[in-house]
Amino acid sequence: PRADALVFFGATGDLAYKQIFPALQGLVRRGTLTVPVIGVAKSGWTLDDLRARARDSLASHGGVDEAAFATLSGLLRYIDGDYADPETFTRLRAELGAAEHPMHYLAIPPSLFGTVTQHLAASGCAQGARIVVEKPFGHDLASARALNETIHQVFPESSVYRIDHYLGKEAVQNMLYLRFANRLFEPLLNREHVQGIQITMAEAFGVAGRGHFYEETGAIRDVVQNHMLQVVALLMMEAPSHPGQEAIRDSAAQLLKSVRSLTPQDVVRGQMTDYHAEPGVAPGSTVETYAAARFHVDSWRWAGVPVDVRVGKELPVTCTAVTVTFRAPPLTPFGPAPAANALHLQLTPGVQVTLDVNTKRPGAGLSGEAAQLVLHQQAWDGMAPYERLLGDALAGDATLFAREDEVEEAWRIVDAVLTPTPPLPYAPGTWGPAAADALLGADGPWINPVPD
Ligand code: NAP
Repeated sequence: PRADALVFFGATGDLAYKQIFPALQGLVRRGTLTVPVIGVAKSGWTLDDLRARARDSLASHGGVDEAAFATLSGLLRYIDGDYADPETFTRLRAELGAAEHPMHYLAIPPSLFGTVTQHLAASGCAQGARIVVEKPFGHDLASARALNETIHQVFPESSVYRIDHYLGKEAVQNMLYLRFANRLFEPLLNREHVQGIQITMAEAFGVAGRGHFYEETGAIRDVVQNHMLQVVALLMMEAPSHPGQEAIRDSAAQLLKSVRSLTPQDVVRGQMTDYHAEPGVAPGSTVETYAAARFHVDSWRWAGVPVDVRVGKELPVTCTAVTVTFRAPPLTPFGPAPAANALHLQLTPGVQVTLDVNTKRPGAGLSGEAAQLVLHQQAWDGMAPYERLLGDALAGDATLFAREDEVEEAWRIVDAVLTPTPPLPYAPGTWGPAAADALLGADGPWINPVPD
């Protein structure tokens, strides 16, 4: 059923300011947010303070749409209270009135999930409700399992929506659509035809003042376990095999189950040389700001195809791209082709899909030249991920949320490489430690994405 109230824990926080108010305005504009939005925090604010904060957030993130803002303002409610105090939840229950299917959005530190869910249950606010939770979902496999247990004491899995904002990206959805809405690619996406797969998530910026947060995280936890493995799953999974909401998540979970657990030999960890200058970073910290990893997918479709993933901060560009490189033709009667066929999917910034093919060089003889087909190019993101995801959660569609088994499989895959070992230094503005090239061996070099 559609949610009939949105309870917004963390309404005064940083994520709310940067992402959620703009998403809520977007939903109001689309006509899909018509239910009360109840902010809960302990700042000592009034409803007017929250409205002012919302306006301020919109003004600095895409602009205030006065008509939509007026509607949003009218939907906002505010409850000031500590999450540790049962009284906060008594007031929330009263504010919910006749709502039968509230959506509780926990944009708060995961350490508070247990407290909040227990109080939601005790106060009757969990009845008929669903819960949306932010990342990080756990710190390793054991803590993710414990967090799932904590949440499941109150909410069954069918009522749990775990946000991985990458799944809300236009380009990631396009990747999925492209695969299964065309006859062209699917027959080629397997070990018979694919030489290797590379994914690079490059960020030209550093930890941007969030050193304290990053110290608890590092590149593998921050983006590999969640975003990168979700991209791997959607790119390499089998076609959804049954109608219904769970089909895509079933296929994605199945793929993750066939990904071999990483060992230290599969991974190169790097740290930018200016990391220690960041406020909040411990002297001698071994937290990685860069990671390269080779994944093996032990399925009949993919056995033996290397899947190389690289992520890092302070790299030369900000761009996330996937490259699927195809094998050479079995014979080349006209001499070696100029370049391998490759499918490139740029995921950020914007959406871009290109295909490298070889064509004949005009004129005498049969020699070739590399050409690039641009299949799809779109500079804008269509819909902000948070707008799409919160809209889906309100409507009760969990397709784009990480399911319990996916999250636990992803932690299982990276679990043995989470223990920090001294990372290799790399200079800001470079492509990371040279040792990452050795990881690829004959399958190298890394393909450096060029944002378009
Ligand atoms: P934050 O700025 O620290 O905000 C925390 C929010 O929780 C505030 O609204 C705070 O209210 C409220 N809160 C904390 N303890 C409380 C308590 N005991 N009682 C009542 N309210 C309490 O955190 P954030 O950066 O927005 O992050 C929220 C969640 O989103 C986290 O899980 C984080 O990992 C995730 N996330 C954040 C980002 C980001 O860019 N910030 C990105 C991805 C995911 P008061 O202000 O009133 O104390």
